[in-house]
Amino acid sequence: MKRLNACGDVSSGRDDHVSAGLRTVLAAAALAVVTLASGCGRGAVAADTHWAAPAVEASSSSPSPAAPSAAPSPSPSARPSASAKSATVVSGPLNLAAVAGKVIVIDPGHNDGNFAHPEIINKQVPMGTGTKECDTTGTQTNGGYHEAAFTFDVATRLAALLRGAGANVIMTRNDDSSVGPCVNERAAIGNDNHAAVAVSIHADGAPATGHGFHVMEPAKVGAPSDAIITQSHQLALLVRDSYRARTGIPASNYIGKDGINTRSDMGGLNLSVVPKVLIECGNMRNAGDAAMETNATDRQRMAEGIAGGLAAYLAAA
Ligand SMILES: [Zn+2]
Repeated sequence: MKRLNACGDVSSGRDDHVSAGLRTVLAAAALAVVTLASGCGRGAVAADTHWAAPAVEASSSSPSPAAPSAAPSPSPSARPSASAKSATVVSGPLNLAAVAGKVIVIDPGHNDGNFAHPEIINKQVPMGTGTKECDTTGTQTNGGYHEAAFTFDVATRLAALLRGAGANVIMTRNDDSSVGPCVNERAAIGNDNHAAVAVSIHADGAPATGHGFHVMEPAKVGAPSDAIITQSHQLALLVRDSYRARTGIPASNYIGKDGINTRSDMGGLNLSVVPKVLIECGNMRNAGDAAMETNATDRQRMAEGIAGGLAAYLAAA
């Protein structure tokens, strides 16, 4: 039941997105964050930080490939500067032609039913290099907007965009009230459907001073994903470029390198044998990022940014 207690959850170090080696540090740091940001024990929502100390992340320094053909047309427009947004964003029609006829798996992180079923989401499941918890509850904004609701909304918008362009979209969950699936099952959905590409959508729960997005790609760790390391790296670069251009959200200032974060501890990535990345769309504990994440217009832009990246990858594949 400790999954339902914010303090107990954090101090237990149970976090789908944090490497085991960091748990001691993160438990203390995240506990401090939760205490400051939301009040430990105030609510029934478990904290779920996805960030890791920059000192241990192994991000890639490979250069970005040439501008993808599916990149949106360049018509920058001024944006407010009060949040984490950069000065300009790219708008105009998306070129999603390359997704037509492709199987694309969209994985909205967490599930709002997870809160009520710790006995399910705390069970150990395979994660490619061992076992870890089935899932977590996810984070939330200080205003109480759950990550699970956010990811499901962005995923639904993304699915509509891709289906509109002729893609065969499969979601790993089709509502925001049930439980799971577990991270290994989420990977299996992409594998079993022989997806051309798969993407997990999340938002982070890092300290409030951290802002921006980052894209996680699998590290080569002797897991099934070893077979698609190169493809997933290219996918990560293209999703990063498109997302940044379309949303105006800068790369994370607290983790990764230029928006790319290579991870060895993500079961949903390690177990994938199809090209797959996980995007942390922003930090829900940062006021500027949260303002965008709670805004439907911005969530649509996030979906467009991800769609553009998937299309660019498929155009080049
Ligand atoms: Zn998450």
